[in-house]
Amino acid sequence: MASCRCPRCRTGKVFYGNPYSFKRQRSNQVCAHCGLYFEIEPGYFYISMYFSYAFAVFETLLTAFLLYSFTQSESPWLYGFFLICVIVVMAPINYRYSRILLLYMTRKIKYDSRYDSDH
Ligand SMILES: [Zn+2]
Repeated sequence: MASCRCPRCRTGKVFYGNPYSFKRQRSNQVCAHCGLYFEIEPGYFYISMYFSYAFAVFETLLTAFLLYSFTQSESPWLYGFFLICVIVVMAPINYRYSRILLLYMTRKIKYDSRYDSDH
């Protein structure tokens, strides 16, 4: 799950490209290794926006808490600057892991060793 691989074969990549490249990130529609359809219906990955939102809320709260515990500052500019930075830096990561989480949680796809590259 952490390496963004297909839930069934754990070999094929769900995304292609680097999360921080300037080209738009894309998910593969089908696993290149075992042929599992990742996007079962159009708009399926829109649900992952809720996960992405939850990740962003968690990250900003954690950052604000850490910032306050280290600086004891009450300046809104300090918090505004750092929280915007965190949101921008973490957005590609949130995008990936929200989709991965959706794929692993909602589809009940079991790991099948027959599809693994080692077997
Ligand atoms: Zn696969």
